[in-house]
Amino acid sequence: MIYAMTRTRFAPSPTGFLHVGGIRTALFAWLLARQNDGQFILRIEDTDRKREVSGAEAHIMDSLKWLGLDWDEGPDSDGSHGSYRQSERLDIYKKWAQKLIDSGRAYADPYTTAEVQAFRDEAIKNKQPFLYRNHRPKKPPAWDGTMPLRFKSNPKFLSNWEGENAPVVDEVMGDKMFNNLTIDPDTTDDVVLVKSDGFPTYNFAHIVDDAEMEITHVLRGQEFLSSMAIYMDIYHALGLKAPKFAHLPHIMNEQGNKKLSKRDGAKDILDYAREGYLPEALVSFIATLGWNDGTEQEVFTVNELIEKFSLDRVHKSGARFDERRLLWANGHFLRQLDIKTLYALSVGENSKTKYQSTDYWPEEAEDADEEYKKQVIGLVQERLKFLAELPQLTEFFFKDLPVNPELISSHKQLKKLEKDDLKTLLQTAREEIAQSDFTTDDLQNRLNALLTLTHTKPAVLFSLIRIATTQSPASPGLAETMTVLGRETTLRRIDQQLRLL
Ligand code: GLU
Repeated sequence: MIYAMTRTRFAPSPTGFLHVGGIRTALFAWLLARQNDGQFILRIEDTDRKREVSGAEAHIMDSLKWLGLDWDEGPDSDGSHGSYRQSERLDIYKKWAQKLIDSGRAYADPYTTAEVQAFRDEAIKNKQPFLYRNHRPKKPPAWDGTMPLRFKSNPKFLSNWEGENAPVVDEVMGDKMFNNLTIDPDTTDDVVLVKSDGFPTYNFAHIVDDAEMEITHVLRGQEFLSSMAIYMDIYHALGLKAPKFAHLPHIMNEQGNKKLSKRDGAKDILDYAREGYLPEALVSFIATLGWNDGTEQEVFTVNELIEKFSLDRVHKSGARFDERRLLWANGHFLRQLDIKTLYALSVGENSKTKYQSTDYWPEEAEDADEEYKKQVIGLVQERLKFLAELPQLTEFFFKDLPVNPELISSHKQLKKLEKDDLKTLLQTAREEIAQSDFTTDDLQNRLNALLTLTHTKPAVLFSLIRIATTQSPASPGLAETMTVLGRETTLRRIDQQLRLL
């Protein structure tokens, strides 16, 4: 879907870190801009001073940068529609507020908290919903900026709004936006436009900004759907043409029974960077939270996404967050890397982000040489799902782990054998292996010969040798592993196991 000019924005509030939910909104908006040669704008919505967290703005920018979601205009760039921080745009909101006052669509709210409470109590007593618009002051005072400024809502606005400014369907939710009771115009009320601290509310500021910044598509979470009637009323009152809207479905927890929360694993996106995930994998995974291209394809490169993404394939219902899919996608992208790149990442030499500047190797690898580590990472690359897993997967390449009897006693096949038989088997294997030149081919041939010689299955023989040489239930290919460990270490470890059998 190509639009003549596409300007999308991501408008986070600097109240904490970004998790997959926020990033998905940013990603979809970014993809839409990029596929239409449009612009992607970053706007910081910092009008709620109480909720602001220091450092959050920088953190948000770092998260987007790490994922490669670059913006054309934002707080750190010029752009012709600045400032891109709402706290620096107060004069602009004042100007638009004045328009509404002049046209009789906004008024100063003169009530004290106690008076409002009395209205509320009365409504409860009469079993009526409490609405500000039922208590509009007959003669509101002039607005001096110390009182809240309220919108004079018009619940009937939708029925008499026609023509080119009239709202259309939601790009994702379709006509649900107007047919659904959640946006019953009767519930529109006199919302606050500007608070008594001089800062605008989200309700007002985003409409002014989206118009001033010439945003063509507003992408945001579905939680804003229920306020659409109010927003439309405000657009109407301001004489503005509303942009296109795309409300994105919730991201649900793994069970799919509630919205994903921090407790269900919605963590700081930069934690994934720290743990050694690849931005490509995150982007692919997040893009497929509620979107697919209509085929079975599960992972996408950024370029494929730019080409294939479309709002009309975004699902209307919640997407499930399944971290195993992310692990799988990350493993997929890690396997595409050449050893040089993978190694550089593993030692924290990733020039793209400061969040991956740590060395992921186990402590014992500190003195190991680069060539050896490259061999090791080449072996575990197939199974590696994220870099922070390296110690667990590679520790045995760097130190002799103590013999763990449980590896045998809990092994499906090995636990059925007598100790003596295990010992004989391992002794036979040792003799054969000792004659090897420790090239992988030769080791592999000898392992195969041993299967015939001892009449055992790989699940028995190879597991036993694997346990003896690695003290781990799993490892890369056995012959390859022994080649990298080398003769001395391999035999020493087999002997260690033999002594304890
Ligand atoms: N500041 C709002 C939020 O963080 C943005 C919503 C929007 O994109 O309009 O939820």
